[in-house]
Amino acid sequence: MRNNNAINVTKPYLPPMEEYVECIKTIWNNNWMTNNGPLHQELSRQLKIYLKVDNLGLFCNGHLALDIALKALELKGEVITTPFTFASTTHAIVMNGLKPVFCDINFEDYTIDADKIENLITEDTSAIVPVHVYGIPCDVEKIQKIADKYNLKVIYDAAHTFGVQVDGTGIGEFGDISMFSLHATKVYNTIEGGLLTYKNSKLANKLEMLKNFGISGPETVDRVGLNAKMNEFQAAMGLVNLKHVDDEINKRREVTNKYIELLNDIKGIKFLNYKENIKHNYIYFPIMIDESKFGATRDDIFEELKKYNINARKYFYPLVTDFNCYKEIHAPRDLTVAEYVSRRVLSLPIYGEMTNEEIYLVCNIIRCLYKINGKVS
Ligand SMILES: *Cc1c(COP(=O)(O)O)cnc(C)c1O
Repeated sequence: MRNNNAINVTKPYLPPMEEYVECIKTIWNNNWMTNNGPLHQELSRQLKIYLKVDNLGLFCNGHLALDIALKALELKGEVITTPFTFASTTHAIVMNGLKPVFCDINFEDYTIDADKIENLITEDTSAIVPVHVYGIPCDVEKIQKIADKYNLKVIYDAAHTFGVQVDGTGIGEFGDISMFSLHATKVYNTIEGGLLTYKNSKLANKLEMLKNFGISGPETVDRVGLNAKMNEFQAAMGLVNLKHVDDEINKRREVTNKYIELLNDIKGIKFLNYKENIKHNYIYFPIMIDESKFGATRDDIFEELKKYNINARKYFYPLVTDFNCYKEIHAPRDLTVAEYVSRRVLSLPIYGEMTNEEIYLVCNIIRCLYKINGKVS
């Protein structure tokens, strides 16, 4: 049995076309395509409410937003971060002339192990850049305590956590700055896009300047800046998609629950821990495979799914520290848990439109592998 259509790890959310067309008509009416246009302003306003944050800025993508966040805080020296992430996190640190110092992750939720941060702090440390990986919040309380004790900045890579709340508080309220990605493959998109939420409202001006060539007035340029502005077509997509994001998240919750229902009794498969006090966004559905119980490896499952045109992804493998561009520069560290998890984790396909048929297909393939190889005890 082979599918005609591939099932990929995700399917970008596109709104009904008429809604988008309706929204972009205003661009022709105003003749305003970029540089803080009316749609941009309206999207900022609506997102502040949706994300429950006081300060927010929009950018052309998440990576440049993170880059600008690090620049705005004028960091120096070393930054403690996680190797279990997408390339962007580390690239932003290194491109700012900072040295990434890699901290191991938790076995429970794969976020940075807050208990191991303090050991890595030196007199050169200026910040911590943790990642709310798979949309699961880091131990924000413990991280803030450490930051306060050593006078460090905290910049969250919150690329995965659009709409996530902790006890009713928007995830963007934690740390000094958080970066959300609004890329096509994320839970909520503006085609490409990103945003920063931040604690200190005084940063607003600086962030605005940094994303617009450092320009401060018609004849004044005060900073060395970038061009990282969100345009009106992106903002329009954001406004339209914002009306559908709750529906998308609800559908993803149902997909998640179906997966868990269908895979729950298989030995050697571990799911994320979905906590009661967290409002999740179900951006990914990673499973971790213990081959001693499952009877086959993560790579076996990956290859078997591939035969059926199902493209799961090994998020996050390899670790950043194993990238060709970073292998040489990073000092040896104890990354035992990150290495263990990275070799065993597999993100299964998830998107709002995923049908029960597709979920059954994925799960049946995994179950067959287990039946053939698994140790039934
Ligand atoms: C997607 C992503 C980014 C980069 O965001 P873009 O909007 O694609 O630039 C950064 N960090 C993580 C963890 C991501 O998943």
